[in-house]
Amino acid sequence: MIFGAIRKFSTIDFPGKLACVLGTKGCNMHCHWCHNYDLVSFEFSANCRIITEPEVLEFLKARAGFIEGVVISGGEPTLHGDLPEFCSEIQSLGFAVKLDTNGTNPEMIQRLMHEHLIDYVAMDIKTDFHNYPTITKNKFDPEKIKQSIELLLNGPLPYEFRTTCVKPFIDKANIEKIGALIRGADHYYLQKFDHTHVQNRDYAGNPDAGFDDAEMAELCCRVEPYVAECRIR
Ligand code: SF4
Repeated sequence: MIFGAIRKFSTIDFPGKLACVLGTKGCNMHCHWCHNYDLVSFEFSANCRIITEPEVLEFLKARAGFIEGVVISGGEPTLHGDLPEFCSEIQSLGFAVKLDTNGTNPEMIQRLMHEHLIDYVAMDIKTDFHNYPTITKNKFDPEKIKQSIELLLNGPLPYEFRTTCVKPFIDKANIEKIGALIRGADHYYLQKFDHTHVQNRDYAGNPDAGFDDAEMAELCCRVEPYVAECRIR
């Protein structure tokens, strides 16, 4: 595993647990509005030093008893083939594990679930299914997104779906298509877009790319019939 960021303490990233957040290096999506752009590349950059797995494990050993959970975020953690071994290692230190994922690797999610190596999953839903190819120039198979959704909807783990609401990838019409895609989900969170932490010039500093409070409330109303709970973050 290769990491590019550690947030030492969080009360909001792992439901019900005090946690730290690990940012793995590398992502296969390169979303146009990515707010974690320092983590997207697998390479070292001036803004993002590489943090090795032994460094992370030392950090976690020192936190045992102070925090309850570890959020493995990114980047896209499931791209790392040794993620199962890493999850097992941090579980053996006594921590619960939450996985943040973009859903492009259902095979890894299935393995982690099957081997009881994760305790909670948060999966991003970027846009409606047919719009997925527009969010990035990178090639990926949108069918994988559907497979990951099905795994979570039908699996034993607590989970949430979440969407960062960015125009034009989200609108009043396609939010209902997303609702249909995740129909029956326990928890769905709509996240306000923060244009201040984005590198792409089309989105950085562009408040028009986000939704105001009234618009977010309308999106929430439109998707509520499809899920058990929808909230705005
Ligand atoms: S999936 Fe997340 S980390 Fe990867 S490019 Fe998109 S927003 Fe950035």
